[in-house]
Amino acid sequence: MMRRAGLVLAAMALGFSSTASAQMAPKAAPIAAEKMAKPSTMARPAASAARPKLVVMIVVDQMRADYIEKFRGQWTSGLKRLVEQSAWFREAAYPYAATETCVGHATISTGALPAISGMVANAWWDRESQKMTNCTADPKAKNSGYAGAAPKGGDSVWQLRVPAFADELRFQGGAATRVVTFSLKARASIMLGGHKADAATWFEGDGWVTSNVYGTLPFIEAYAKAHPVKADYGKTWALSLPRSAYLYEEKALGASAPSGWDLTFPHPLRGKSGGSEADESFYGQWATSPFADSYLTQLAETAIDQLGLGKGGGTDYLGVSYSSTDYVGHAFGPQSWEVQDMYVRLDKDLGELLKHLDEKVGAGNYVLALSADHGVVPTPESMAQTGVDAGDLHIPDVQQKIEDALKSFGYTSPAVARIASADVYFAPGIYDKLKMEPTALSAVLAAIRGVPGVADVYRAEQLTDRPATNSPIRNAEANSFFPARSGDLVIVPKPYWLGVSSPAGKARDYGTGHGTPYYYDQRVPILLMGWGIQKGEYFGAVTPADIAPTLAALCGITLSTHDGRVLSEALEKNPPVAKPATAH
Ligand SMILES: [Zn+2]
Repeated sequence: MMRRAGLVLAAMALGFSSTASAQMAPKAAPIAAEKMAKPSTMARPAASAARPKLVVMIVVDQMRADYIEKFRGQWTSGLKRLVEQSAWFREAAYPYAATETCVGHATISTGALPAISGMVANAWWDRESQKMTNCTADPKAKNSGYAGAAPKGGDSVWQLRVPAFADELRFQGGAATRVVTFSLKARASIMLGGHKADAATWFEGDGWVTSNVYGTLPFIEAYAKAHPVKADYGKTWALSLPRSAYLYEEKALGASAPSGWDLTFPHPLRGKSGGSEADESFYGQWATSPFADSYLTQLAETAIDQLGLGKGGGTDYLGVSYSSTDYVGHAFGPQSWEVQDMYVRLDKDLGELLKHLDEKVGAGNYVLALSADHGVVPTPESMAQTGVDAGDLHIPDVQQKIEDALKSFGYTSPAVARIASADVYFAPGIYDKLKMEPTALSAVLAAIRGVPGVADVYRAEQLTDRPATNSPIRNAEANSFFPARSGDLVIVPKPYWLGVSSPAGKARDYGTGHGTPYYYDQRVPILLMGWGIQKGEYFGAVTPADIAPTLAALCGITLSTHDGRVLSEALEKNPPVAKPATAH
């Protein structure tokens, strides 16, 4: 209690001085600052531009925290530097059950948990339209493509119920703030960018796209034209290290290779047929390869150059979410040569990006946060080999068991409208009726609990007040429960059981997944480096919802709501004065 009170005070003090100076900050940092004595050794003048020039948010999709412990000895560049020079939070974990991409990015981006942000899954059942809706689907928005790409639909952040950190930075910064985000995934780029990004760009089908909600930047058009993804056709993903450097077996147990590949290296990017054209399988292979990560890195570097990020009057924001680590993890599982090699390659990409930031923005002028949107569970087959109870939880069987249980009470089938993620949505009126018929409801709950792999099931009304109980699982479920969007019932799988969309007896067509309230899905790295950050290793229990409040404190702005806290243990006592970049 005492410790917490001290942290709040420290944060307030920092926030006050930064806000005051941001309002008075000149359009460009004064040249005289260059000639000053070493900033860290002098007292901060009240009117200095005491804020980072650029906030860089890196999300590595599906990066387990223990990849650092396992693989860091093989890293020589960016990831190595981050681990060595950052404030490294080694026991960070999401405190909720819905460990999915949209949810994690929304939490990192806003500092609010899904119960507040409303981002409860990548997609949920919309009771009004009786249809599935993606977390970014916006009927009023229209997507558009760069370099001739022709995307469908419309995406925006309108279903997010709180502003993003980037929105607040732009609104409160007092000077022009540029917000640019890149990812292969719409939900990643959009959640990081918030409501008014200058550009939020993602990959769809065979090209780079955005939506009319965001700006369209000429440099992205030019880059996409000059560097078509299909130029990577014919490349080969080969091992980066000697074979003896890899852990586990070359053929990962329980893995399922993308179309056109098998389970051994090398993986050629030649599509399904192996012909000479970039087909659909080629784009799937590309997205599941380190080449896509490199492309995103180069896009980010181009944005830094073309927009002069970190050189304007305000604090700029660059968000990059690396998606291929997730696609590779889903296909091959965390215990695979493929995942290990992805991180060897990402280490090099991030090394280049950091070098570029140092040269163009100036080392120490930017603050960088790296985290992940969720972890991942090993394949059930690899866990079962250790003797641990593990398997596939066949969701269609859950649905069938519910229908069977209700038939004897006179309910007409289908009583279940949809099971999405772990959420069971009944057809209109059914759940209200069930609540009036306790024996029928009990029969449904018993039927669900009888399906192999189910640990428990919660009713909506058990999750609406958070924190509801001392049960960590129920609290985790409550933290990602948003009544209008979450299910009438929420299924909790047993640990190491994978929810799959195939019925019993039919094999799943991918390696593994995530989305449970267990630590292997919840635990992710948090690394903070650069302006205002005190490097070190921290073992306290923190969450990715703490990232946005911490960046807000550094930038001297206030978030409307946050479930996280300022990670004040990682803040420098006297943040340096932001310096103008030396290279132009
Ligand atoms: Zn995933």
